[in-house]
Amino acid sequence: MSLKLSQISVETLKGVGPKVTEKLALLSINNLEDLLFHLPSRYQDRSRIHPIGSLLHGQTAQVFGMIETADVVFGKRRSLVCKISDASGILDIRLFYFSMTQKKQFKRGEFVQCYGQVSHSGRAISMIHPEITFLKNQQIPKLEAGLQAVYPTTQGLQQRTFQSLIKQTIDSLNSASIKELLPQDLLEKLNFPPLADALRLLHRPPLDISLTDIQSGEHPLIQRLAFEELMAQHLALKKLKQKHQAHHSYAISNQQEIFLEFKKKLPFALTSAQQKVIREIRIDLNKNFPMMRLVQGDVGCGKTLVAAFAMLDIAANNFQSVLMAPTELLAEQHFIAFQGWFKNFGIAVTLLTSKMGNKQKIESLDNIKTGAAKIIIGTHAVFQKQVEFSHIALVVIDEQHRFGVEQRKNLLEKSFRSIENNASKHPHQLIMTATPIPRTLAQTAYADLDLSIIDEMPPGRKLVETSVINDLKRAQVIQRIRYACQQDQRQIYWVCTLIDESEELECQAAEATYQELSEQLAQLRVGLVHGRLKSKEKHHIMAQFKAGELDILVATTVIEVGVDVPNASLMIIENPERLGLSQLHQLRGRVGRGEKQSYCILMYHAPLSQNAKQRLNVMRDTNDGFKIAEKDLEIRGAGEVLGTRQTGEVLFRFADLLRDRKLLPQVHQNAEIIANSHPELVEALCARWIKNGEQLSHV
Ligand code: ADP
Ligand code: MG
Repeated sequence: MSLKLSQISVETLKGVGPKVTEKLALLSINNLEDLLFHLPSRYQDRSRIHPIGSLLHGQTAQVFGMIETADVVFGKRRSLVCKISDASGILDIRLFYFSMTQKKQFKRGEFVQCYGQVSHSGRAISMIHPEITFLKNQQIPKLEAGLQAVYPTTQGLQQRTFQSLIKQTIDSLNSASIKELLPQDLLEKLNFPPLADALRLLHRPPLDISLTDIQSGEHPLIQRLAFEELMAQHLALKKLKQKHQAHHSYAISNQQEIFLEFKKKLPFALTSAQQKVIREIRIDLNKNFPMMRLVQGDVGCGKTLVAAFAMLDIAANNFQSVLMAPTELLAEQHFIAFQGWFKNFGIAVTLLTSKMGNKQKIESLDNIKTGAAKIIIGTHAVFQKQVEFSHIALVVIDEQHRFGVEQRKNLLEKSFRSIENNASKHPHQLIMTATPIPRTLAQTAYADLDLSIIDEMPPGRKLVETSVINDLKRAQVIQRIRYACQQDQRQIYWVCTLIDESEELECQAAEATYQELSEQLAQLRVGLVHGRLKSKEKHHIMAQFKAGELDILVATTVIEVGVDVPNASLMIIENPERLGLSQLHQLRGRVGRGEKQSYCILMYHAPLSQNAKQRLNVMRDTNDGFKIAEKDLEIRGAGEVLGTRQTGEVLFRFADLLRDRKLLPQVHQNAEIIANSHPELVEALCARWIKNGEQLSHV
């Protein structure tokens, strides 16, 4: 068998010394295989001459013409303008930086060849600072045989170097090889070229290739690479899943009696979607390896209760469970709800947050340690070092999408560490999210998890009617509020959004609005809640609002997550153009929970970008979380929807979950086949594509 490119260091190439090696390493290029996977960012076509008369504005083109004049022109900026002509027209070559020697080179009657971007202004067609070749005494242009690749590079590493290195690598493909990791029959079935051919063609595309398709990633050559990458990611996640399942957990037996009693005491019947998901969870809990289940469901579908049922089973088996929420406010609200549900069952519920008073905290920590606390609700404080669980069997993560990627990665590790103090069992994991990403996407991004979907709302929910209004009409909106509260007995949220990503400023904006509304609506009871308030104050104000003792609650986006006041039926969102679709949908989900028809007013500040206009219209036109997620995906791209882009973490090199969605069913189907019939390929695929396996974990 011949040598593999991955085994040949870049140092073996001509022109590569320690300096170049170092620069290449910055681009993660260490061996010839890496080099071959370093694809051009674009291509230049110098294989043909475009007639001047045919040039379009914005086009990059090559022209050939005779020099007519070359004059220094004093306009806004001094420039050298040289007119050249061919049989079809006249082109201005414009140079802002030039020397007199350069000017002299433009000799009337001689020929030049230029490559550059065309711009039209009025009748004039020009190229600014094109690449120029003077062809003395010669009327034949020099043409390249194929398209020229332009490579993404780093400072101090020239295009020419790259072109030479890639050429040497492609030449060595005859004696060495790149390992083909997709089975032959699969390539044939999907009509994909072998890897070596795909890479060779992408570095040296034939003239008739569709550059548009390559640039957009729709070309089969790119699709071939995207497919392999998606396959590798999928297989890696499946491996991760197997690794989870090799751990041991407490098998939780279903306690039917208390389960039925709990259900009977609820003021409403479970939806059939909730019942289905509770069943799925109980089957998992019953096993002696960890459950890893993701529950997806739109805002307000009742995920909290589903978690409560799981936690009930755990408590009835005399184990502990912990529910972690992303904000203090939500943790406190859950705490109150859980206390209500569990008080008649002798099951102790404990709150633990970092902002809690010291005395209370010590008491909570103690209850957790002794095992007196069966159900623990908190913020990420529940996984701090000083927390020692007595015998924990289930970890629930609520609103998982709200935790940063880093945080998510740490959670699992921390929860393991915290139980290792006591036992060698891993906790079951229940992850809840309201970002209803489309199913195929979820199956790809979360292939290490089992998926449950709550696709039904509790009965009686009404759609929230949404309008988009310019903030010049602020005074009218305030009038409408007065009417809504006084005549219509409504409770209202007024949400101030993030300015410049600063919590401080957001709080200030909320303070100012609070002052304004308190003055203008003196007859109404206005409250204010934001992230800077002490936990106790926040709690107090929320309780007042919930009890109907406040008409208007001015809030920052802290109320985005999970806050539940069914009687609130009107929401004003200031500067909604600053928020993403999912976040707007989450916010709006705070209304439309009670009997009354609910309304949402998106009060924007003009001018709106095209993109913002599009987003606000989506909000006005639909209430369906899945549809909104689809749109979000279209507008923002997959990386952002999955919450990875902010951290700068790159999900894929060639694949794009949105663009390549059509490949996903094939990836899923064939992953099974590869894992079963070609286990050796699984390792090789993961080694090629997954540089850091741990990063895959979502929890
Ligand atoms: P989310 O899925 O957004 O977390 P919640 O769990 O906060 O939703 O539930 C929203 C509201 O719906 C809560 O007031 C909850 O008590 C209520 N709820 C949950 N399940 C049902 C049901 N089956 N019927 C009626 N109301 C329900
Ligand atoms: Mg919730």
